[in-house]
Amino acid sequence: MTKPPMLTAQQALDHLLSHAHAVSEWEMVTTQAALGRVLAEDVSSLVDVPPLNNTSMDGYAVRTADTQVLGSILKIAQRIPAGSVGTQLEPGTAARIFTGAPIPAGADAVVMQEDCAIPEGQVEEVQVNTIPVAGQWIRRQGEDLTAGKTALVAGTFLRPQELGVAASAGLTHLNVKRRVRVAAFFTGDELALPGESLKPGGIYNSNRDTLLACLKSLGCDATDLGIIPDRLDATRDALRRASKDHDLIITSGGVSVGEEDHIKPAVTAEGRLDLWQIAIKPGKPLAFGAVRKSDDPAQGEAWFMGLPGNPVSSFVTFLLFVRPFILKLQGREMIAPQPYPMRADFDWLKADRRNEFLRVKINPQGGLDLFPNQSSGVLTSASWGDGLVDCPPGVTFKTGDLVKYIPFSALLS
Ligand code: AMP
Ligand code: MG
Repeated sequence: MTKPPMLTAQQALDHLLSHAHAVSEWEMVTTQAALGRVLAEDVSSLVDVPPLNNTSMDGYAVRTADTQVLGSILKIAQRIPAGSVGTQLEPGTAARIFTGAPIPAGADAVVMQEDCAIPEGQVEEVQVNTIPVAGQWIRRQGEDLTAGKTALVAGTFLRPQELGVAASAGLTHLNVKRRVRVAAFFTGDELALPGESLKPGGIYNSNRDTLLACLKSLGCDATDLGIIPDRLDATRDALRRASKDHDLIITSGGVSVGEEDHIKPAVTAEGRLDLWQIAIKPGKPLAFGAVRKSDDPAQGEAWFMGLPGNPVSSFVTFLLFVRPFILKLQGREMIAPQPYPMRADFDWLKADRRNEFLRVKINPQGGLDLFPNQSSGVLTSASWGDGLVDCPPGVTFKTGDLVKYIPFSALLS
């Protein structure tokens, strides 16, 4: 029997993304509650930010026409703290001004207080010990946001800084995509939950905590359907329950084609499935398909992605394949982060026909160190590491070579 050719990571990803379409439903939430959500529509600013030309320094607002000579003396005619508006600046005068205060009409520069002196006994005069350039230390009205112009675009993942932009635009509420709903279950008769007693040969279900936390960090509504025994009927039953109210079902384990691997027949019976061999390490088997929501075809389907059981394999395949799929369902702009070049401080001399994703950490010298045990069962490699080196098939490298690095931080939000 000839084996089907393995897919490259890119082929698998392209195929997945060609199926995923953004959820159309949205909801209105307060700006403060919008962290980690995806903006459903472009939003415009209600105001100019800054609202008026204002000073970025404590100092004196001046007319540059009055300060062409070093040491010009000007009369301090007004005082403008932040939050108040001054009056027309007459020739020969300066305004004492504080950061954020509007520039008075007539002034065209600010001199910072460190460049000024108050002449002996002359509290109402200021000596300008620099020749200011027109516009200096002035923040222009609307240079940040302009009233009526787009402040944030649809598809933006809302981080703390976007919430701040929305607030400075005067927006109390935002329309965001509804959360993507994902159900997860974990196959394996050997699995137990922490806190339960382990039977001989038993292990704790670590994929549950890793994968549910991955889903939460992406802003999904995650449902935990627990541990499912290695039986066809139990797997089919779990799929039927999972399909009901979810956009996507993910599972771990049971995706090989051994007698104890029931994912393929179960999903095939409840919907449709492709079982892929992807030329990556860790990883390799990945199942992609869909599960009917009911016997009535009008009810549609939930997407299905079956990950391998080994803890590093399921984590890495989640980051490389499930995450971009979810991002596309969320309607997000950025799908897959591009690796960037970093210096390897280790040799990698054993070329593999698969695309390897090595767990590495940035060292104090700015290079990458390799975790010594790259086994797909050793999850401490991922917790020790800062990210992955994407090592294409057949590639070797030596200490000092540049390699393709993807930080975990770019893959977990
Ligand atoms: P499988 O993909 O079901 O053949 O499992 C491959 C390996 O991953 C086996 O050693 C399993 O015991 C282990 N494994 C499967 N599921 C989990 C899980 N949820 N947590 C930790 N290890 C698991
Ligand atoms: Mg198993």
